[in-house]
Amino acid sequence: MKVIVLGAGVIGVTTAYYLAKDGHEVTVIDQAPSSANVCSFANGGQLSYSHIETWSNKSFFTEMVYGLFKPNSFISLNDFSNKNFYKWIYQFTKNSNPKIALENSLNLYKLSSLSANLMNKILKEEPEIENGKSFNYHHNGILHFYRNQKSFNNAINNLKYYKKINLKFEILSADDCIKKEPSLKNIFLDKKLVGGIYFPDDASGDCHKFISKLEKICREKYSVKFIFNCEIKNIFTNYKKITGINTENGVFVADKYVYALGAISDKLLKGIKINTSIYPIKGYSLSIKSNNKIMESNVALTDNENKIVYSKLGNIFRVAGTIEMSGNNFISQQKNLKFLHKITKETFEIDYKKTDYDEWCGSRPFRSNSMPLIGHIKELDNLYLNTGHGSLGWTNSLASGQIISEIIKNKIPDNFKFLEEEFVHIYNH
Ligand SMILES: Cc1cc2nc3c(=O)[nH]c(=O)nc-3n(C[C@H](O)[C@H](O)[C@H](O)COP(=O)(O)OP(=O)(O)OC[C@H]3O[C@@H](n4cnc5c(N)ncnc54)[C@H](O)[C@@H]3O)c2cc1C
Repeated sequence: MKVIVLGAGVIGVTTAYYLAKDGHEVTVIDQAPSSANVCSFANGGQLSYSHIETWSNKSFFTEMVYGLFKPNSFISLNDFSNKNFYKWIYQFTKNSNPKIALENSLNLYKLSSLSANLMNKILKEEPEIENGKSFNYHHNGILHFYRNQKSFNNAINNLKYYKKINLKFEILSADDCIKKEPSLKNIFLDKKLVGGIYFPDDASGDCHKFISKLEKICREKYSVKFIFNCEIKNIFTNYKKITGINTENGVFVADKYVYALGAISDKLLKGIKINTSIYPIKGYSLSIKSNNKIMESNVALTDNENKIVYSKLGNIFRVAGTIEMSGNNFISQQKNLKFLHKITKETFEIDYKKTDYDEWCGSRPFRSNSMPLIGHIKELDNLYLNTGHGSLGWTNSLASGQIISEIIKNKIPDNFKFLEEEFVHIYNH
């Protein structure tokens, strides 16, 4: 069967990989010059298989509200003339209800556990990936560290909800954190480290490098065709199914279509009466060239109070975070980058010059309940969506790609039936 995948981000390319492995004739279309060039380019690099808390939960919500009143903070809102912004915030508040948030987290864990297994499989099966060396993969866990006793206690308390899924974790004192990650010594000496939670099953790796390799595997081993520099203008339908994809290079036709355009092209779906409720939540990152002591351990880190993640990717110290809700634009706000520089310099013994780092920003495709849309639009027979992965697109990409290829074979795996619920209200008749 001929399948067109719209979008060559981490979600589009992993989708193409599993579809091609299933024997389909796959074409991927993207407006960028290469794969993983937009939100998947310089993200935090964390494969947070155990970090299953949705952003829409009570404690995150409270921290966001407090953050708004701080002069130097991880969060900024600036989209007050957009009615979708208010709708999204309203839904986000509703989804932060503890019962709903827990159910969503446990469902996300099903996705991330499958992703972790698939990562192990791909590392063994695809020699091109070089056992992870090709994308600076480290399976050394993620340490979430805390500067505030109250939030540390809350985080420990929340772990009880995950007992039934046997999530592996270790609660660490401030001393133990230093043993695990000596570079936290600075904040320890400043008495700003109260403890940490270490998730040994988590990992990190460079998403862009991984996808570049996977694109090569798709082309050379599975004959997937990639069409870059090709903007998709609209999607043609006859109200029963998709009849073609209209691009700047003409119309492309296939038997089935998978939409994986991330945060920036929701208007294409709105044009065919689909409302995904995806809001673009911008985040920023720094890629600092470093051979500093920081790089000696390969443990990835999460700074809970500042909502910043740190990964060691070859000779790059990747710092990523901030939550900017300012609609769909590509303008970088200096204050968010300054925030990342400030916290990095205060936290670690690291000094770097202007020539030593790159700055980047990308928009996470976020739904108000943090759940992705992976499935079939029943009203349009041959259209499938794989989008809305929010802050966990790299983590959940392999599972999402495999599940959508299973759905195209007409069988949603039993364990993932919950994904169908996300599709109930998104088509406007
Ligand atoms: C600061 C930051 C840190 C993050 N850290 C992590 C992390 O540590 N771990 C994690 O799991 N996730 C992380 N994420 C989230 C993750 O990066 C995203 O969830 C993921 O990249 C989304 O992938 P995607 O393929 O859906 O979208 P994208 O990567 O944006 O891909 C969409 C593609 O569609 C193409 N496209 C869009 N519109 C059109 C059009 N009209 N015509 C043609 N092509 C089009 C784009 O060019 C793009 O290539 C982070 C995100 C940010 C911003």
